[in-house]
Amino acid sequence: MNKVFNFCAGPATLPAKVLEEAQAEFLDYNGSGMSVMELSHRSKMFDEILFDAKKSVYDLLGATDDYEVLFLHGGASIQFAMLPLNFCFKRKTAFIDTGIWSQKALQEASKLSQVIVLASSKDCEYRQIPEFSSIDFSKVDADYLHITSNNTIYGTQYFSFPDTGTLPLIADMSSDIFSKKINVKQFGVIYAGAQKNIGPSGLSLCIIRKDLLERIPFTIPNVWSYRQASLNNSRYHTPNTWAIYLAGKVLRWIKNEGGLDVMASRNQGKAEKLYAAIDASGFYQNKVEKSSRSWMNIPFSTGDEQLDLRFADEAEKQGLMQLVGHRSTKGLRASLYNAMPAEGVDALVDFLYFFEGKFS
Ligand code: PMP
Repeated sequence: MNKVFNFCAGPATLPAKVLEEAQAEFLDYNGSGMSVMELSHRSKMFDEILFDAKKSVYDLLGATDDYEVLFLHGGASIQFAMLPLNFCFKRKTAFIDTGIWSQKALQEASKLSQVIVLASSKDCEYRQIPEFSSIDFSKVDADYLHITSNNTIYGTQYFSFPDTGTLPLIADMSSDIFSKKINVKQFGVIYAGAQKNIGPSGLSLCIIRKDLLERIPFTIPNVWSYRQASLNNSRYHTPNTWAIYLAGKVLRWIKNEGGLDVMASRNQGKAEKLYAAIDASGFYQNKVEKSSRSWMNIPFSTGDEQLDLRFADEAEKQGLMQLVGHRSTKGLRASLYNAMPAEGVDALVDFLYFFEGKFS
């Protein structure tokens, strides 16, 4: 098999060890004679898989038991709709606008609530995280404040989070969860689609402070209720058992590698290497303001749309896959999630030099 490095923003590269383990267990999980996908979601074996995956979330993030950990169907976009459905007690929500994903979350919230945008970086085409230190959160009359911790499309990331006091902070961490330590206590809800740093698509992880869960009305349809999901330990209906199994393996892999400090130092090292190569070149540009630059997603461009496409095309021939930027921003984008090895970044940097030498 050809070894390639996959820079896709999601579904993204998974740790090779995890895939190998899953392959070895594919036909016969743990001596059951069945694949994981054939096990009842109420079986003892699946109980253990779910317990283990949940425990890893608590262990890795240092979450205390006043938080519930849920594995739910589908991706983050479902949470965009579920959050206002569950948490709009006053029908007022607040947002920090950092681009398309926060806009999409905001659009769903606006169907059920009056939305206030407290800060936005739209004016600079989302090339930085908006300043939030001057906002007095104690004066914000809303059910919650929603932020997007890492902006997959623009390559911006929060490295500190606002202290919102009693206003619950809800964070879409789809593209940077488990990439570095966070203080869970700062958040009312953390959620993430799985297909970047957690596992395969079709699953989302939600971490919800229990006092918020307990306020959710029983009038919400059960399948859309975080409270029902919690009362049924993520099994109100048949969950995506395969995705939970793989997520559990990815989380164990993170633990075995040394946890979130190790991930953070690797991620910072990989990102800095690529930014340094881009900045030094004069041929490629990354226009993100330096203090907002993401460790996870690094957009760059030659400034020429056709040349960017040629770059991605030639890179694929060298085993550097899926470097085309998001369809809204175009250009190129390298996603360097936890599972991207340092050698992948080295190979990409070598290719940057090679391509520049050929076309500058
Ligand atoms: N939020 C962020 C930050 C994302 O990057 C994405 C997808 N790339 C989404 C939400 C939407 O996720 P999904 O496709 O899983 O609904």
